[in-house]
Amino acid sequence: MTLWTHYHTPSSLAEAQALLQSYAGRARVIAGGTDLLLDIRHGHLPPPEALIDITKIPEMCSLVQDGDELVIGAGVTHTRIVTDALIAARATCLVESCGVVGGPQVRNVGTLGGNVAHALPAGDGTTSLVALDAWADVIVQGERRWLPIRELFVGPGQSLLDPTSDLLVRFRIPLAQEHEGSAFKRIMRPQGVALPILGCAAWVRLDPSGERYEDIRICIGPVDRVPARAEQVEAAVRGQPIDPATVDAAVAAGRTSLSPRTSKYRATAGYRQEMIDVLLRRVLPLAAERARSGQAVPEGVGME
Ligand SMILES: Cc1cc2nc3c(=O)[nH]c(=O)nc-3n(C[C@H](O)[C@H](O)[C@H](O)COP(=O)(O)OP(=O)(O)OC[C@H]3O[C@@H](n4cnc5c(N)ncnc54)[C@H](O)[C@@H]3O)c2cc1C
Repeated sequence: MTLWTHYHTPSSLAEAQALLQSYAGRARVIAGGTDLLLDIRHGHLPPPEALIDITKIPEMCSLVQDGDELVIGAGVTHTRIVTDALIAARATCLVESCGVVGGPQVRNVGTLGGNVAHALPAGDGTTSLVALDAWADVIVQGERRWLPIRELFVGPGQSLLDPTSDLLVRFRIPLAQEHEGSAFKRIMRPQGVALPILGCAAWVRLDPSGERYEDIRICIGPVDRVPARAEQVEAAVRGQPIDPATVDAAVAAGRTSLSPRTSKYRATAGYRQEMIDVLLRRVLPLAAERARSGQAVPEGVGME
């Protein structure tokens, strides 16, 4: 089976855009290809005439600190993220989520941008980017702009991006300041090689005394049709003391406000509901401890 006829490796955004335009819908953007090539091979997507590989475009592959923010190119691989000391210390949940994507071979070529552009509510990197309140630099219908990452997603596997013409260029992520920390955990079948049963990322800011959750963002997926914040769980925690009663309140809010669905390949809705409790009980105290101590050593990376 011929998966494509032409393969291009543009070295600039302008060249990539021109190529996409010239194929007028018959080409497709590719990064690591770990999602795309399977989708084509399994017939979920029609074989494109051409693939436009974005991994040779410098802006797509850069990883730089800009003041209190990190700017990560969409073509940066999971392996590169996992081995970055700054991200480990100040955007810890991203290292923890990218560190469990597939195995080493997948992480070596799979990219953060590909994870986001695939737009699945269970994407591990995506879950952490939502909790970190990342912004995405996109070129949609020829117009380049920054938008909050949550605004990218329109449905399961669907984003604002048309992968035959649009580009996801970079992400901007606020780095953790004093009293801030984050954590990610997931539940995965031992033999699982693709998406998790459930993943949960949390970012917290404590008050200066380190006794209360001043602010919090939580993303649990897959629960909704798109990667989304667990806002009622956040509301149960915001302003509350860092103690077991607050975690109980978060779990109770998760029970009433979140309705995961049954997936015939992964888990029942009931099992996932139970696992929301488990993940909240693991992630919230860990993020709070990191925020309090200012020390963060990513856990679980490369274990699966
Ligand atoms: C064995 C295996 C295990 C996996 N395990 C996990 C897992 O544990 N967790 C998880 O979340 N995922 C997992 N995945 C899925 C996949 O590896 C990740 O989602 C990965 O991050 C996809 O990145 P990629 O660069 O390979 O994307 P690609 O396959 O190249 O592209 C994916 C989609 O995004 C589009 N695209 C890519 N880059 C851009 C861009 N810059 N601009 C516009 N559109 C773009 C493509 O056209 C395509 O539609 C697994 C896959 C495999 C094969």
